[in-house]
Amino acid sequence: MHQLESLYRQIIMDHYKNPRNKGLVDDPRYTLHHIKNPSCGDDITIQSFIEQGVVKDIRHEGSGCSICCSSASVLSTLLKGKHVDEAQALTTNYLKMIMNKPFDESIELEDALAYQGVTKFPARVKCASIAWKAFEETLKKASEKHE
Ligand code: ZN
Repeated sequence: MHQLESLYRQIIMDHYKNPRNKGLVDDPRYTLHHIKNPSCGDDITIQSFIEQGVVKDIRHEGSGCSICCSSASVLSTLLKGKHVDEAQALTTNYLKMIMNKPFDESIELEDALAYQGVTKFPARVKCASIAWKAFEETLKKASEKHE
């Protein structure tokens, strides 16, 4: 168990120090959503480019604690290239996992499994969820645009 926990910590610190897909782009095809978490100063913007039912790109920008910033990077690597239905299923599953609700272990959360430990720290659950919630909002807005 300790080995797994240190692996998870390594994943989180790696994404915190070397964030993937960081920085917003100036492109009207992207949908943007911003969320703040006043309790620890997290401030995250997620920008997604969704076309023909596929998440073509996810960008993120912001500042905050290591849990929050790294989770935006993990999210972007995991969901980029996924079909919107699959991206939504992964998001729902991830949010269930960190809220300590039963989740579908057959849906591959990959590096996002590293955040399982936050269930033990209720104050950090919000940190681990805001990037995913912001992404979920961009999915909703993008589908409204097409309807
Ligand atoms: Zn935080």
